[in-house]
Amino acid sequence: MKKIPLESYDIVIGDASLSLQEVLRDRRYTQIAVLVDEHTSHHCLPKVKDIIPAATVIEISSGEQNKIMSVCESIWSQMASARMDRQSLLINLGGGVIGDMGGFAASCFMRGIDFIQVPTTLLAQVDASVGGKLAIDFQNYKNYIGLFCNPIAVLVDPQFLKTLPPRELRSGYAEMIKHGLIKSSTIWDRLSGMESIYDITWDDEITASIGVKRDVITEDPKELGMRKVLNFGHTIGHALESYALHTTAPLLHGEAIALGMIAESFLSKELLSLSEISLNNIVAHIKEVYHDLSLVSLDHSNEVFDYMGADKKNRGGEIRTALLQDIGQATFDIPLSKHDVERALAFTKVVMS
Ligand code: NAD
Repeated sequence: MKKIPLESYDIVIGDASLSLQEVLRDRRYTQIAVLVDEHTSHHCLPKVKDIIPAATVIEISSGEQNKIMSVCESIWSQMASARMDRQSLLINLGGGVIGDMGGFAASCFMRGIDFIQVPTTLLAQVDASVGGKLAIDFQNYKNYIGLFCNPIAVLVDPQFLKTLPPRELRSGYAEMIKHGLIKSSTIWDRLSGMESIYDITWDDEITASIGVKRDVITEDPKELGMRKVLNFGHTIGHALESYALHTTAPLLHGEAIALGMIAESFLSKELLSLSEISLNNIVAHIKEVYHDLSLVSLDHSNEVFDYMGADKKNRGGEIRTALLQDIGQATFDIPLSKHDVERALAFTKVVMS
């Protein structure tokens, strides 16, 4: 088992049932509930259920469209029915939707109870479960209502990835690429040099990827400065995701971020010092992995730009983003005009077609 220590909790990489047993050993909870969706109930819960035989299972329907207040209310109702109190624990067993919403539900329930993140998708293991950002979507805007609050532990078990659909695995891989691009050319070189994402040694690469995020959030836990570099690919990517969510071809989070990283790499070359060779390398690798994405949202720059207007990183109405100076070196708070965004979407459409 590997441990990545943070200031107030550990991220443990290894067998989830063993690490859960260890975390619970010295703690006494009045009630334990585990939040799952129909997929993690089937594929992941059996792996840890023996450790928490008396736990209340709260099951919600999977999918981003359920990361909303009404579902959160139903979680709170079930927590109240199970007579959970302030000495209770919620275990969030699932992808980023379960982690974001379960963490939000736990942090608000009776002004906050302990929770453990057990991420079961690649995206949640390398990104969503690390850093204490918890949220639900609101009026079609992603992660609009939420807070920063840390779990008591994050238990990452790469074995869960065995049942993850390939499209979901590829979605999570986008955040690993991002970690390389913003902070580590070594990670980027290793990943982009692989023949296929199925050649990846998950334990090692997940550990390396979490290490990047840990370093960034330790320096800036509340996203006042440097942490904004983690949003590379997300200013445009989130807006593409929000737009696509209401079309017949929604994009998964990582798929939208993959497109966003191409668009924002283009802007990194246009507005900063990213070289053309690096831009071409980034485009080539992303295109190789994500060659079959729906590109419909790239044709709707007005709507995409409107969604960007609601981005939490904006300041005084001005759209701001993180861009690359070089591979492995990101900077933040770069203002973007509508014209920049239109050019970036057009570039992305051309190179991905
Ligand atoms: P997800 O939670 O929707 O999970 C994807 C699908 O995989 C779901 O159908 C789920 O049921 C299924 N699944 C999960 N684990 C499985 C397993 N082991 N085997 C089989 N199926 C499994 O999607 P996601 O990509 O994990 O997370 C996306 C969410 O994460 C978005 O809401 C995004 O905003 C959020 N996010 C949050 C942060 C953060 O810092 N908090 C960072 C990045 C993304």
